[in-house]
Amino acid sequence: MTRIASPPAVDHDRIARIVAEVLRERLDRPAQRGPRSPLVVNISVRHMHITPQHLEILFGAGATLTPLRPLYQEGQFAAEQTVDLVGPKRRMLQNVRILGPTRPQSQIELAFSDAILLGIDVPVRMSGNVDGTPGCIVMGPKGHIVLDRGVIRAQRHVHLSTADAEYFGVRTGDALDLVVEHPTCGVTFGGVIARVDPRFKLEVHLDSDEGNACDLPGATGVRLVRAGGPRAG
Ligand SMILES: [Zn+2]
Repeated sequence: MTRIASPPAVDHDRIARIVAEVLRERLDRPAQRGPRSPLVVNISVRHMHITPQHLEILFGAGATLTPLRPLYQEGQFAAEQTVDLVGPKRRMLQNVRILGPTRPQSQIELAFSDAILLGIDVPVRMSGNVDGTPGCIVMGPKGHIVLDRGVIRAQRHVHLSTADAEYFGVRTGDALDLVVEHPTCGVTFGGVIARVDPRFKLEVHLDSDEGNACDLPGATGVRLVRAGGPRAG
């Protein structure tokens, strides 16, 4: 006859202690720190931001922007309306899209190769900082304007929510590095300037030259790291 060992008595107190310990450990552990939203890298193709007044000159009295498709950042959109830009040597860039909503200041953002095509020397600036920048002629279906300034190459930048900024340890104006992994043409972009706003979603904006240089659509990975630091995001 086989003797079946009786199971050891269940020590309920011990189990309760272990469960309590595990729970306490979990609760005490700091919440997983990470960006609130996944890192998105998008290319800003040449575009114009426009004042309501300029919009009416170019598209007629009472004209408003018609949204064509929403952009990643909340409330921003590509408009149906486009303009033609004319440079000093009568060179033209046609069908430059307007991004909405309208702004208090008109501004045109070009890639370096766009500026060469237009024949003007365009500085790299953060959006909105247009003092001392060149202008151009902007043509719409109903009229034209002569911008005396406002044409820039947009400084590569990253939009961060407050939580994202906390995660990366940066404030508006700080620089991050963007690492683009690619089997044949990986690149690290320095000088990716942080722009922090509670409404922002984590998104890097490169211009089309930068996006083409690293074949962004073929990238196998993108990481944001603090400038000069190894911390990955
Ligand atoms: Zn942007």
